[in-house]
Amino acid sequence: MTSCIFCKIIAGSIPSAPLFEDEQLIVIDDINPVSPVHKLIIPKKHIATLNDLSAEDTLLMGHLLLTGSKLAQTLGIAEEGYRLVENCNAAAGQTVYHIHMHLLGGRTFRWPPG
Ligand code: 5GP
Ligand code: ZN
Repeated sequence: MTSCIFCKIIAGSIPSAPLFEDEQLIVIDDINPVSPVHKLIIPKKHIATLNDLSAEDTLLMGHLLLTGSKLAQTLGIAEEGYRLVENCNAAAGQTVYHIHMHLLGGRTFRWPPG
């Protein structure tokens, strides 16, 4: 049995209400939102960090990015602006070691990020 929280959500052993799901990924609300829109786009394949990607994941990662872009349009934040963020390892703030893309929107963000 996996100890990965996102694998448990994907398997359904932890209940969630996905906003969107297909054969490759799910989209859920972040449990601790940092902006009015804060979704997580999570590949069903368990990959611990961006450092663990391989060439076979090229299409999958493109699919994550396109899903984030389409979702931003669906949610009405595309024109004002949004962020798609992937944190890798501790210094970047990664806390769940199953890669995921944050879709952040609904407010103004600073650059550079903290
Ligand atoms: P990271 O810090 O790894 O980039 O992002 C992990 C994100 O997952 C955090 O924003 C955190 O709030 C979210 N998160 C952690 N556990 C859960 C959970 O059980 N359910 C949901 N929906 N989000 C979670
Ligand atoms: Zn996992």
